[in-house]
Amino acid sequence: MTENQSGEDEKHSQYDYSFDYIQGKLEGKKDSYGMLMKEIVRAGICTECGTCAAVCPVLEWDHLIGEPKLIGKCTGCGICYNQCPRTITDPIQLIGDFKTGYVGNTNIPEVIGGQDGGSITSLLCYMFDEHLIDAAVVTMKDPKNPWHPIAQIISSKEDAIKSSGSIYCHSQTVEALMDAIRQDYRSIAFVGTPCNIDAVYKMMSSPSGMLKYFMRAHVLTIGLFCMDSFSPEAIYSFFKKEGLDLSKIKKMDINKGKFHVYYDPKAEPIKSFTIKSLHKFKSSSCNFCTDLTAENADISVGSVGSGPNKNTIFARTGIGTEIIEDAAKKGYLTIEPYDTINLNAVLFLAKLKKVSQYNIQKRKVFIVKDSKEEEPRIETKPESDQTPVSPALGTRKVLRVSKAINEVEKVLNISLTNAIGHVLENLKIRIVSVEDLFEKRPWITTIKELFPYETIEIGYPLEVQEGEIIYENVLVEASTDEYGKIYSKSFKLAPPEKK
Ligand SMILES: Cc1cc2nc3c(=O)[nH]c(=O)nc-3n(C[C@H](O)[C@H](O)[C@H](O)COP(=O)(O)OP(=O)(O)OC[C@H]3O[C@@H](n4cnc5c(N)ncnc54)[C@H](O)[C@@H]3O)c2cc1C
Ligand code: SF4
Ligand code: SF4
Ligand code: SF4
Repeated sequence: MTENQSGEDEKHSQYDYSFDYIQGKLEGKKDSYGMLMKEIVRAGICTECGTCAAVCPVLEWDHLIGEPKLIGKCTGCGICYNQCPRTITDPIQLIGDFKTGYVGNTNIPEVIGGQDGGSITSLLCYMFDEHLIDAAVVTMKDPKNPWHPIAQIISSKEDAIKSSGSIYCHSQTVEALMDAIRQDYRSIAFVGTPCNIDAVYKMMSSPSGMLKYFMRAHVLTIGLFCMDSFSPEAIYSFFKKEGLDLSKIKKMDINKGKFHVYYDPKAEPIKSFTIKSLHKFKSSSCNFCTDLTAENADISVGSVGSGPNKNTIFARTGIGTEIIEDAAKKGYLTIEPYDTINLNAVLFLAKLKKVSQYNIQKRKVFIVKDSKEEEPRIETKPESDQTPVSPALGTRKVLRVSKAINEVEKVLNISLTNAIGHVLENLKIRIVSVEDLFEKRPWITTIKELFPYETIEIGYPLEVQEGEIIYENVLVEASTDEYGKIYSKSFKLAPPEKK
């Protein structure tokens, strides 16, 4: 971390956070062998350098399948994880460099109770009042199309207040910025998601002919923290199906893994969804994004790590620091020093985002049911619910299998992941429902090749009577010519527990 510029001021030293301390925390018990296996080895990004095995007395290199193998009791010391060249453990790699961190909230009455702490709007109001900017690029709701974002050039404090609030969709902010420069605004505050900020940063720093624009205007960038955004058509049609009236929605926010929708921002949300359940509506680009905290902005603002009605704020540049501190001195917002507990929450989320890309499978195989005729019932042999062992692989688990019932589509989603460093050739998969020791609705398929750590996703249709799912036992088996039977397990399906 860079040093606080106002180092002679005693008070400011409390704003300095020791990256050594955080580094120490990361090397503690939290990051261990389990995480190394999940994030690096199972994700298929291990380079097989063998460092993890070299630094630990209870790890050895398994030459057969090319991965580390535990041969004793893991103490969870985290050294293997931290020494691995593929893990991201350095705080600067996670959230970028910054000068000072704050927890902030607005003091402007019209902004209190808005999105989070209202810090961005407060900074914009301060900059307009102080004549530091003559325009700002913000994102507002399209009046003709509820909750669709529309990037706007504003030139007053009143409009800044109107622009507060988050819209969780991509907004074409850069187009508005270029328009503002063409319209001869000379000092512009630009508010955007990390990807928006990156575009501006690149324009300002790459020799691609943008000189004429950026010599004419000074642009101060304010970046929002951003985990993901959604395709408006997809998510809003889903909201409509869920009975939500877009024109009545006053606020949306994301908090602790849930997406909340409010008709009245002062009351409880009218509906909440887990972020996981909304993943299919996520903008595809966000799957490839690793920047949570707008690492290239002058000022970054988010909600994670600071509690309700507050913001986490990072001043990354000298001018960013000065603006925040002067705005606070003049009463637009209150700032408090950021502590390591706050910072840990941001680091945790930043790490999830950085490593999420590792978990995108290079290739996914989706299988559609093709057997038209019901095969005759055959007697099933009760299987021991264990993964069979192939003599060639010893006790190693070859396939990792997970299942989830999709009640809407009335299918059992089964994911089978190749868990070893070998290609599985001619992988035969057999899925059947089992009723009183009889098999029915068999579904058999052969996958030519399943590469290491690739996943096959299968939607096995469940039996439905009068619109209701019949919960039965489902047997999943897999074998290859080379290794014989590599998986056999029956799952007892049950309706999800009602909360
Ligand atoms: C797509 C998206 C995802 C986010 N994900 C997270 C997250 O995972 N974790 C987290 O801590 N914070 C996230 N945020 C930021 C958070 O929602 C707040 O914007 C932030 O905490 C600032 O709060 P505030 O109270 O200061 O906002 P306000 O003072 O209300 O200011 C919000 C500003 O954001 C601008 N804005 C709104 N929507 C957009 C948009 N789509 N694109 C560009 N600018 C926009 C507005 O113009 C306004 O100036 C996300 C924001 C967005 C837009
Ligand atoms: S004991 Fe070995 S395997 Fe366990 S966390 Fe420490 S280094 Fe990793
Ligand atoms: S240190 Fe990391 S990259 Fe190297 S072998 Fe171990 S898991 Fe793989
Ligand atoms: S997740 Fe990344 S790509 Fe998606 S809106 Fe946020 S910053 Fe942009």
